[in-house]
Amino acid sequence: MKFYRRAVLGFLMLGMIGVTTKFSQAQGQAATQKEQPSSILFENVRVFNGVSDQLSETSNVLVVGNKIKTISKSSISPPSGTTLIKIKGGDRVLMPGLIDNHVHLFMMGSSEKDLINPNITFETLNATATEEAKQMLLRGFTTVRDVGGPVFELKRAIDQDKIPGPRIYPSGAMISQTSGHGDSRLPNERSRRFGGTISRGELMGVSFIADGRDEVLTATRENLRAGASQIKVMAGGGAASAYDPLDVTQYTLDEMTAAVQAASDWGTYVTVHAYTPKAVQRAIEAGVKCIEHGQLSDEATMKLLAEKGIWLSLQALDEAPETANENVKAKKHQVVEGTDNAFNWAKKYKVKLAWGTDYLFNPANNTNQNADILKLKEWLTPFEALKLVTHDNAELLTLSGPRNPYPGKLGVIEEGAYADVILVEGNPLKDLAVVKDYANNFKVIVKNGKVYKNLLR
Ligand SMILES: [Zn+2]
Repeated sequence: MKFYRRAVLGFLMLGMIGVTTKFSQAQGQAATQKEQPSSILFENVRVFNGVSDQLSETSNVLVVGNKIKTISKSSISPPSGTTLIKIKGGDRVLMPGLIDNHVHLFMMGSSEKDLINPNITFETLNATATEEAKQMLLRGFTTVRDVGGPVFELKRAIDQDKIPGPRIYPSGAMISQTSGHGDSRLPNERSRRFGGTISRGELMGVSFIADGRDEVLTATRENLRAGASQIKVMAGGGAASAYDPLDVTQYTLDEMTAAVQAASDWGTYVTVHAYTPKAVQRAIEAGVKCIEHGQLSDEATMKLLAEKGIWLSLQALDEAPETANENVKAKKHQVVEGTDNAFNWAKKYKVKLAWGTDYLFNPANNTNQNADILKLKEWLTPFEALKLVTHDNAELLTLSGPRNPYPGKLGVIEEGAYADVILVEGNPLKDLAVVKDYANNFKVIVKNGKVYKNLLR
């Protein structure tokens, strides 16, 4: 009961955040404008700009405020009236900050057991997520798209520079049908429509269990009200969930279309969790703009993605951990087996490809986020992989249109882009493995014009 009251209060507060978001954003911008801008001068760096397969000649890069002001082979005299940080690059590589387009910050730092344990409060779980956000930034990930979970409060605190973390494109609660991939009720819990109460996952803002056009519209609009930059809907069976088989299709066309209409009325898009051809095809028919996963897709469906210009947000997933139950292990194995086809066909048909890690419930694995980039070597050159995790991932983020919380340029190093950069020891275009040892090789990490790590001091 105590938890219930607390959770309800938390839920109400989450709602309030939605109301205050716009006001706070405006306030935040005014505050930065008034402050004396700081500047950073990177001297003698070779730039990987996110789009060219060649490093630049030795150059200087000036950051003023939160943007890249000047890139030049000649020396740059820093502007007066700013506090200057000078970084001697020593011909190291300056590259855009990494982007992960499929994270669940709230769920990646805790086990599934902790998340469903009624004795563990939202505040405790949120504190874990806050630490995860900080660690992620220190791994060089300056932007993430969070595709499900209560991260609005965390995002706001990061944007206001109260805590360190990446830029977050939040989806809010994952929208799932009853019995769908986001229905995390315990086996004995009844639907709130048939004698049950609202589930813990819903109270915390992890998911909305929504059936029928009306409920899907409300769920979508609740997320938009809270500040979602895109909407995440479960369109088919999942591996990590216990009650929905992998092969099932979720949401009728009518329900899926409702989510798309509500999102597009706000100028943004729906992305769906889907593995199978049927789930992917129905989502496309409904007007969905991005598919998460798609590993069980067939060749014809991949062609369709390319023809329609639909994004595929793909991950090189691992087998389920030894501790998982047999059902989950078997499902995950099927998905892992489909990964090779998915990457090959995506490449063959030039599908708009994005990349993410999708870490969940296995905190010990989180430090492998950078190592996951190396898995891409099976299908991509180092350049293609680096472009994917910077420039290409950033392009997907622009689909949020007027709901884009960071409307400047991300994922590239060019004049006018946001100053999200990493100074790297070694040349990742030659040897992708340098991004794996982020602790030693990422000498400097800058996000939004602020230095979060500097080993060269
Ligand atoms: Zn996911």
